[in-house]
Amino acid sequence: MNPAQLERLGDHMTRLRLFKSRERLEALLQEAASREASYSDFLEQVLTEEVSAKTTKNIAMRTAMARFPFVKPLETFDFAYQPSIDKKQVLALASSHFIEHGENVIILGPPGVGKTHLSVALGLKAIEHGYRVLFTSAAHLIATLTKALTENRLEEKLKLFTTPRLLIIDEIGYLPIERAGANLFFQLISRRYERGPMILTSNQSFAAWGEVFGDRVIATAILDRLLHHAVTLNIRGNSYRLKEKLKAGLVRTEETQS
Ligand code: ADP
Ligand code: MG
Repeated sequence: MNPAQLERLGDHMTRLRLFKSRERLEALLQEAASREASYSDFLEQVLTEEVSAKTTKNIAMRTAMARFPFVKPLETFDFAYQPSIDKKQVLALASSHFIEHGENVIILGPPGVGKTHLSVALGLKAIEHGYRVLFTSAAHLIATLTKALTENRLEEKLKLFTTPRLLIIDEIGYLPIERAGANLFFQLISRRYERGPMILTSNQSFAAWGEVFGDRVIATAILDRLLHHAVTLNIRGNSYRLKEKLKAGLVRTEETQS
């Protein structure tokens, strides 16, 4: 192929944003010539590489946009360590069908048992399945909405949390929520109700949510909407953070049961 044609092809590819193809063009042409590939095989290879590069880039972009506290896929979760988790149920959730069905997932359990890890892992699966995901903590969500209310920007911020197809709200119950905050939280839950599914995690049982939200009536209204279509995972077990210490015999199991 003459250099002028190669340059023209490169320009077309840049214009069409086929960056991977442009980068690989010469190599792909040489490979195809040496193995006497058919026109259709050559075209298929170019397009397959381009689609694959674009998919990878898109997943990386949506993963960054999701604002996860850490990126740990489900494959790194040790189910053997946490027998109270139904692995089959989690694998079913990993198919992201719950998103299509508008179901919420609520993960309950004491600190360190993998609630955040599982919510991130399910969020990553959702991204792989093409959904937009946003991760936030209850404290950050409420602080953002409270600030927005004082700045007359509540509507804008509520949209921020309602547009992603999947919203993950981590750590409900770690900090007590003031009445105004509970009201804002309820507004968000109402907006997402029947529209977009959520994954929520909490170290408190549902019975304790009245205290978490400082108001039994609001807590009941929130739970009523959340639990209408929901799957609850109740994790009962030892903190994974203690795993190494337990192994080394530095702490006894009874100490971790409280
Ligand atoms: P929680 O949110 O329930 O307090 P995390 O999900 O933050 O707990 O887990 C604490 C740490 O232990 C994280 O680094 C997490 O990746 C790890 N971890 C927890 N459970 C498991 C597990 N079963 N397999 C692998 N890593 C785990
Ligand atoms: Mg956590």
